[in-house]
Amino acid sequence: MRAVRACIGLGSNLDHPERQVRMALQALAELPQSRVTSVSSLYRTPPMGPAGQPDYVNAVAVLDTTLSALALLDALQHIEAVQGRTRSGERWGPRTLDLDVLLYGNEVIDHPRLSVPHPGIAQRAFVLLPLAEAAPDAKLPDGRAVTVLAAGCDAGGVRRLIQAP
Ligand code: ATP
Ligand code: CA
Ligand code: CA
Repeated sequence: MRAVRACIGLGSNLDHPERQVRMALQALAELPQSRVTSVSSLYRTPPMGPAGQPDYVNAVAVLDTTLSALALLDALQHIEAVQGRTRSGERWGPRTLDLDVLLYGNEVIDHPRLSVPHPGIAQRAFVLLPLAEAAPDAKLPDGRAVTVLAAGCDAGGVRRLIQAP
């Protein structure tokens, strides 16, 4: 089966966020049927949603995978659970780990459990900056280049923490 390039957004703002993101990157490196081809730097970003929560650490990883999109989502949710993600019911509340499927090849997916491209992608600096770093040639299925979106977004408050390894 031909591998698909999937871009995964990582975020954490609880319980040592930087460590959470590094652990998640390690878990992604161990996913079956998949190979990590690129990882962005880590970024520190102000929280979106409810005020008063700690800053986030965000990053993007790029995989070549033969997992289906839903199997990939299952695997990501498993990693979230292993790293202590609990769902409080509060939208965009603090979390130990959030893993989103940003892009899955050039596919548009409209499934009850999975919307791809991730609906927030074009508006969120904390997604676009690491995505443009890790996958500078990536385009949305509608043809928009992530580098162009990243250059045009309001990057206020998003700071690069650590250079990519
Ligand atoms: P947002 O999706 O706006 O970034 P969030 O990440 O906080 O918000 P979650 O609570 O983590 O949202 O996820 C809610 C549900 O979103 C999940 O149960 C999952 O089924 C669904 N979902 C839809 N599309 C995606 C996607 N592209 N990546 C990950 N989850 C998705
Ligand atoms: Ca998210
Ligand atoms: Ca999520």
